[in-house]
Amino acid sequence: MNAIYDAVVVGSGPSGAAAAKRLTGEGLRVLVLEKKKLPRYKICSGIIFKKSQEITERYFGRIPDAVYVQPKLLKGVRFWSDLGNYSDWPFSKDSEGAPNVWRSEYDYWLISNSGAEVMDCAVFKGFETEGNAVVVHYYDARENKIRQAKCRYLISAEGSVSCIRAMLSPAFERNVKWFIAYQNYYEGQSSLDPYFYHGFLDQKYGEVYAWFSVKDDLQVFGTSVRKGAKILPCLNAFHEMLEKEHGLALKKLVRKTSCLGNTMCASGNFSLGKGNILLVGEAAGFLNAFGEGISCALSSGLFAAEAICACIKSGEDVISAYTELTKKERRQTSVSWKLGAKIAGRDLMPL
Ligand SMILES: Cc1cc2nc3c(=O)[nH]c(=O)nc-3n(C[C@H](O)[C@H](O)[C@H](O)COP(=O)(O)OP(=O)(O)OC[C@H]3O[C@@H](n4cnc5c(N)ncnc54)[C@H](O)[C@@H]3O)c2cc1C
Repeated sequence: MNAIYDAVVVGSGPSGAAAAKRLTGEGLRVLVLEKKKLPRYKICSGIIFKKSQEITERYFGRIPDAVYVQPKLLKGVRFWSDLGNYSDWPFSKDSEGAPNVWRSEYDYWLISNSGAEVMDCAVFKGFETEGNAVVVHYYDARENKIRQAKCRYLISAEGSVSCIRAMLSPAFERNVKWFIAYQNYYEGQSSLDPYFYHGFLDQKYGEVYAWFSVKDDLQVFGTSVRKGAKILPCLNAFHEMLEKEHGLALKKLVRKTSCLGNTMCASGNFSLGKGNILLVGEAAGFLNAFGEGISCALSSGLFAAEAICACIKSGEDVISAYTELTKKERRQTSVSWKLGAKIAGRDLMPL
């Protein structure tokens, strides 16, 4: 262990990239550990909502063309009811639409421009405190070695399944409830407007909800149910309905993916950290209704970094500062779930 970092960030998604960018902007030394090989695939619809776009442009610059997919800009969300009626929710009145991106490329661009040292194929394994410092243990898969890095602050930007959150508070973790999301990518076609992201709210297609979008001519659709519930009947019913009502005709399966999400967000049950360990993005519980999570991942990463910068100067408690800074963002996240429930006419996390 030959380096002392101001911060080690675990996870190279938008929350980790934003925290790293803000810290390095203040001249601090940051190491980002990412367990996957970069650029890594991330299950996502890849829609950059207005707030995400504004934060991205302010801190990282204009989103490069190479990151976009076709159609490049989406007009809005089209919510379908069980009767086949729909209502449109435009993304923005004052712009051409929301960027439609591959997350692998967008996230890689963010982290590559964060100013941090980035180590991929590096799996966080554990930590211990040493005075005011944190010693982080990680597995370097390229060299097949366990390594250590010492830092003043540790940031968990690991996404919804956070080892650090579980290590900090096993009691909190036992009460976390989970849902599972499936997303499939096929070559093929359909009659659904590719300039919209389509949400299907009838629970027979998914306890949380089901969705469809087009990315580079791939037909992308998925659904979500509570962990442990049977997902295939929902996915099959959804697929059949898309075939019958929307002319979906699938050819080759290109990718089949799934992930776990948790309901911390919907219940306002955030986990912001302890001592000099901070949680950001989905690890902390930041996720808006209908699974929009990039904006609050970016802003919580920035707030964590701001709290660290302020506390390095003042010696104040970093978690108190971070808690205060995220007050509005946490409130907005909770409000978004209430608004989502209004749109859907039901609880969106019936878990
Ligand atoms: C199906 C689906 C569609 C979505 N669509 C949208 C959308 O269109 N727009 C939107 O705004 N949001 C969307 N979201 C939500 C959005 O993807 C997430 O909220 C956002 O990615 C969270 O960012 P993050 O930085 O907190 O975590 P992540 O982006 O999940 O990044 C976490 C990173 O940490 C790494 N990691 C985890 N554990 C370790 C470890 N032990 N060691 C090292 N690295 C580790 C992971 O490999 C990963 O790269 C969607 C989510 C899903 C599931």
